[in-house]
Amino acid sequence: MQQGFEESSAARTLKLESHDTHEVHCSRERSRAAWQIIDDYLMPFVEEEGYQISADCRLHPDNDLFRDQERHKIHLDVNEWRCGYCKKSFRAERFLDQHFDNRHYNLLNVNQSKCLADLCGALHCDFVINSNLLKAKCNPAAATRNRHLCESLANSCFPISQGPSARRLHELFLRQFCDAHTCSGKAKPFPRGGKKQTNLLYMATSILLMMLLPLFYLLYYLYQRDMKQETQVLRRVSQVGRKAKPS
Ligand SMILES: [Zn+2]
Repeated sequence: MQQGFEESSAARTLKLESHDTHEVHCSRERSRAAWQIIDDYLMPFVEEEGYQISADCRLHPDNDLFRDQERHKIHLDVNEWRCGYCKKSFRAERFLDQHFDNRHYNLLNVNQSKCLADLCGALHCDFVINSNLLKAKCNPAAATRNRHLCESLANSCFPISQGPSARRLHELFLRQFCDAHTCSGKAKPFPRGGKKQTNLLYMATSILLMMLLPLFYLLYYLYQRDMKQETQVLRRVSQVGRKAKPS
């Protein structure tokens, strides 16, 4: 199953990348997926080390064409998205995306001309977007290319020469993102985990505890009440017994 995914991912990345070079177009959806992956599976470790990613690193927020617009999305309710620039409201995120494309295209960070979606091959975007797409053949050339891109990211973002923190993050990046670029299908992406997983686990545990606590108190209360009633009945019985004796 894992091998199937690797194959599909590699093939589709290959297709997408050749498509992108012809149209000089950057996908907002895939850029968002790439950012989500960076935020979930890399940033927790970067923050833990107190490490500053340099602007030369393509994972730096400034190198995401859409970062400014994405930051100006206000999610008020399930069905209400607001534009942070002009305060107009929309029923779904995709309408807000369209609005950004139509009305605020001048605010795109085009000077950098860096498309975060281009890194999708290295960052396993397909694994996150379509983890159920598990067919097609593994393309060893594409897997090798993604691995090279991945390793070049590790080198430029966390240069080993920059001290112990950078060295540790370099190592982490290779394990977390690069090892899975292989057709052997053995390594999975993000083996070190990330933000979402710990949060989900934490939330599930808290919810379970919050549900179990009242139940525990209810049972304890009922037990206590039963005990009281029993002792009262016993007392009454013994009183009746005592009263009954003299007569
Ligand atoms: Zn607007």
